[in-house]
Amino acid sequence: MPQPVRFVIVGSGASSSLPNLRHVLQPEAKCPVCLEAWENPESKNRRGNPCMLVTVREPKPQHLLVDCGKTFEEAVRRHFRKLGVKGVNAVLLTHGHADAILGLDSLREVQLAREPPDQWVLKAKTPIIASSDTVKEVWSHFHYMLPEGSGSPSLRRRSSLARIVTGLAPHRVKDFQKFLALPGLQVQCLPVLHGGTYVCLGFRFGAKGEFVYLSDVSKVPDDTMKILKSTRAEVLVVDALLKTGPNYSHFGLPQALDLIRELRPQRAYLIGMSCQFDHFHDNQQLFKLQSEGLHVELSYDGLEVEVNLSVDADVKPLDEEPAELELPPPPPRKSLLGSVVQRLCGSW
Ligand SMILES: [Zn+2]
Ligand SMILES: [Zn+2]
Repeated sequence: MPQPVRFVIVGSGASSSLPNLRHVLQPEAKCPVCLEAWENPESKNRRGNPCMLVTVREPKPQHLLVDCGKTFEEAVRRHFRKLGVKGVNAVLLTHGHADAILGLDSLREVQLAREPPDQWVLKAKTPIIASSDTVKEVWSHFHYMLPEGSGSPSLRRRSSLARIVTGLAPHRVKDFQKFLALPGLQVQCLPVLHGGTYVCLGFRFGAKGEFVYLSDVSKVPDDTMKILKSTRAEVLVVDALLKTGPNYSHFGLPQALDLIRELRPQRAYLIGMSCQFDHFHDNQQLFKLQSEGLHVELSYDGLEVEVNLSVDADVKPLDEEPAELELPPPPPRKSLLGSVVQRLCGSW
């Protein structure tokens, strides 16, 4: 029996986010999209890093966060309270770039929102679902949040500043693997290229791929395309950084439209847009594609989409990972004095 699932795009912009800092600080750049986004806090041109919140309601409300990049804190301030979200039940990562993982440290306060106000120690680790390569990239930035080789819990591990941090429980997934990310929420990993040979994961939600999310893609490999073509998605979210054409690691509008024409989803939303796109003007242009039977829109921060998702009977939740991870040792810890000297010398 398909269940209604809520997808909220809480970040729809490029890695540099909008308004772009350069275009705010350099008014002579005369970027009307960034200036409009700067002046109007409610502007749909105000775009954070690609980020999505997926909510299943039965048997009880649970939330999956897809990516947690540099602008995650702002996404929480703008959207989580409005959506009634206190903490997330799991995090799913597309890849290890800054705009996908650099907000992970800020999860601590979000997760503490599920505890009583006087409670400041987290009771549980946060499951983090990602490819093995992405877990390594998370490790290189946030080694204090992942389990140590000794198997001791990271939950209350003290950093050099005796700081209590969010513990992450990694669950490594493979290309094309199907699993339940939350009860009733089936996900399949779809590898895509994101610049050269760098692999990023796209995700196909539901047994029939009712909702497809491809946030960072420069090329769709044949094996992934075969799966995408096997069913018609109700909703496709697809990368489009530039209006004028492709970037080394991202689709532009022409490539996104080529994919939409090939897959013909019921609705398609663009994501990861730079300030080449103006929400109002370009949505009017995209509306003209209805003459081809295509429904294409720019997504925006706060866009909510509801889709009924089915689940295959044989798809199971992910197993607990062993406490000991086969990861390289964390970078050497600098002494506090060494850090201060380094800062004063300007080589931070
Ligand atoms: Zn701009
Ligand atoms: Zn990226």
